[in-house]
Amino acid sequence: MRKIAVLMCVTLLGAAPPPHKAIASPDAKLRAIIAPVSAAQLHHTIATLVSFGTRHTLSSQTDPKRGVGAALNWAEAEFGRYSAACGNCLTVARTSEMFSGDRLPAPTKITDVFAIQLGTERPNDVVIIQGHIDSRVSDPMNATSDAPGANDDGSGTAAVLEAARVLSKHKFPGTIVYATLMGEEQGLYGGKTLADYAKAQRWNVVAVLNNDIIGNSCGSDGVCDSTHARVLSEGPRSQGQAELMAATHSLGGENDSPSRNISRFLDSLADRLKIGLDVRQIWRTDRFSRGGDHIPFLALGYPAARISVAVENYNWQHQDLRTENGIRYGDTIDHVDFAYLAKMTKLNVAALAEIASAPPPPEPKVEGAVSEDTMVSWPQVPGAYGYVVRWRRTDANQWQESMTADNGCVVQKTGVCLSWVELRHIRVDDWVFGVASVSKDGFESPVASAVPGGAFHPYVAPAKK
Ligand SMILES: [Zn+2]
Repeated sequence: MRKIAVLMCVTLLGAAPPPHKAIASPDAKLRAIIAPVSAAQLHHTIATLVSFGTRHTLSSQTDPKRGVGAALNWAEAEFGRYSAACGNCLTVARTSEMFSGDRLPAPTKITDVFAIQLGTERPNDVVIIQGHIDSRVSDPMNATSDAPGANDDGSGTAAVLEAARVLSKHKFPGTIVYATLMGEEQGLYGGKTLADYAKAQRWNVVAVLNNDIIGNSCGSDGVCDSTHARVLSEGPRSQGQAELMAATHSLGGENDSPSRNISRFLDSLADRLKIGLDVRQIWRTDRFSRGGDHIPFLALGYPAARISVAVENYNWQHQDLRTENGIRYGDTIDHVDFAYLAKMTKLNVAALAEIASAPPPPEPKVEGAVSEDTMVSWPQVPGAYGYVVRWRRTDANQWQESMTADNGCVVQKTGVCLSWVELRHIRVDDWVFGVASVSKDGFESPVASAVPGGAFHPYVAPAKK
C-alpha cells in the first residue's frame, strides 16, 4: 500500500467526539434489521395485487374488487395495519394530480398512496422507496383485460410494503417514505405527482430508490442471474446541467451526480452485507430508450436511482396473457423468483435504514490546482459526528481510498463552520474526491462528490454579482 501522509483538520471548537470506528458495527445492526424480510410476505402481497384483475391506470378507481382503485385502497389498508402495529408510527396519506396525455385521453386523476415514518431527529431529511402499482398488457390503452403485473411492478410494490412492515418496528433519526405510485405505464405520472408533493412539502430528499421489475431471475433466452441487481443512475444531472456545463467541462463531474453516488452507495452496501447480491452499476438513467418513476424526481433535482433485475424477460412484461408457439406470455406470479425478490428487498431495506440513520451528505469543495497537495473542505452538517473523505482515480468506478475526519471546524466570516482535510502528495488532477457524513453510531451517508452539482439537493445557480 502506498503511504499517504495526511494532515488532519484541527479541532478548534470544543472536544471532538470519538471516531466512529470505536463504536459497535453498524453493519451488524443493518443485518439484524433486514433479517425479517420474508419471501412468504412478498408472495402474499403480489398474490393480492394480482387478484384485482387489472391495475391499469384507466381501470375503475371506484370498483371495490377490480381495478387500480381497489388495489390502492388495499395498499392503504396494509400501511394502516403496519402503523397500528407500531403505535401509529406511520402517517398514511394520498396525493393526487390530474393529467392528460398520449396515453390518458381524458383528464385522469392520478393518485399515489404512501406512508410516512417521521424521523425522530431530522424529520425533514427524507429517503423514499417507491414502486408503481399500475399494470398493463400489450396495448397500453387496454384497461379491461387481466393485467396481473406480478413483476412489473407487483414486485416493486411488494418491496415497498415489506420495507414498511419491517422498518416500522424501528425508529430512525431521518424520515422514510414508502410509496405506491399510479400512472407509470401511461407516462410516469405517479412519479411526477410524488416529486411535486415532495417539493411542495419542502422535503430535503436525500435519495429515491425506485424499484421497478425486481422479481424475475431468468430472461426469455434462458439466461438466468439471481445474484446481481442492476442500479441505473444518471451521469450529468438533468436538473441544472445547462448552468453547470461550463464548470463540469473544466472541473469534471460527468460521472459524479448524486444519482450516481446512490448507485455506488448501493454497490458497496451489498458487498458489505453479503446478502448474496452484487450490484451491477448501469451508467445510464434508465434502460435503453425506456423510463421509470425516478426520472420525474431527477427532473426536479432530487437524487434518485432505479433498481431492477439483472436479466429482463420481455415475454413476461407488457404482454397479453396467451400461449403462442408453445411460449407463455404474460406477467404472472409463477414467473416471480421470491428468494431473489427477498434479496432485492433486503438491499432496499438496508439502504433505507442506513440513509435514515445517517445525517445527509455534506457539500464538499476541493482545491489544489498547481500544487502537490489537495484540500477538501465542507460546511459542517448538523447532526454529523464525523465524516469519511473518499477518493478514487478518475477512471475508477468505485471509491478506492479513504480517511476519517472528526467534526472540528473553523468558523468562517460568514458564520459557516468549515471542516477540512489536507491530503499531502495527492494531486487534485488525478483523483475525484467526495465526503460522507457519519452518525454517532457509525452509519454513513452516501458520498457527495466535490464536483460542480455534486450536492444532494436541487442545483441552484449562484446569484449574479
Ligand atoms: Zn414498470
